[in-house]
Amino acid sequence: MLRALFLAPPGAGKGTQGPSLAEHYGVPYIATGDMLREHVANDTPLGRAAKVHMDSGGLVPDELVVEMVSGRLARPTPLAGFVLDGFPRTLNQALAAYEWGKDHDRTFDAVISLEVPRDELVRRVQERQRKAGRQDDDLDTFRHRLDVYDRDTQPLIAFYRERGILLDIAGTGTVEAIRQRILDALAAAGHGVDRLGPSDADVAPTPS
Ligand code: AMP
Repeated sequence: MLRALFLAPPGAGKGTQGPSLAEHYGVPYIATGDMLREHVANDTPLGRAAKVHMDSGGLVPDELVVEMVSGRLARPTPLAGFVLDGFPRTLNQALAAYEWGKDHDRTFDAVISLEVPRDELVRRVQERQRKAGRQDDDLDTFRHRLDVYDRDTQPLIAFYRERGILLDIAGTGTVEAIRQRILDALAAAGHGVDRLGPSDADVAPTPS
């Protein structure tokens, strides 16, 4: 069973690599950006509170996001495995996630840091903007999102490195090459898929 999260700037490929990694390990893929966009589309109270932050490229307040994620991880029983994309994004969120993990015997196994140079990120997002037309992919907003990442999220790299679960992965090259690097790094860290239990993520916890 794998409990992993992606730690990477916007445009680094989390949304490409995340679902395929989750499928490989047979665990749910949980992307907070997707969850929040769904709330906005459904015009829920959370969606209404989050929209202004998302549109400007800023972060949704910690307490709203933590509540949303802990609700998702707790259902139907605390998930034994998952791949998280886009959470935690601040030190406060990381501390809340750690508390949740300790309380439920579900602390993270691995944190996948995807490293991509800034000019490459800007090039990629311009392509994504042409294809998908995401509002927060407007170039100025995107640069702001990169600054927010550097200021609020980048410090988590040291936090998880200190805990000994950070995996540094070069996020450039083909999608397949990056995927293989991630799988190799997880295997080298003792989290190869062969050593994991059954693929039903929602059953009772496996000892780890
Ligand atoms: P993403 O799709 O992960 O790039 O997220 C899109 C937007 O959703 C971000 O720019 C934030 O406004 C918001 N968001 C997603 N995850 C979080 C989080 N963990 N904390 C705060 N805001 C978030």
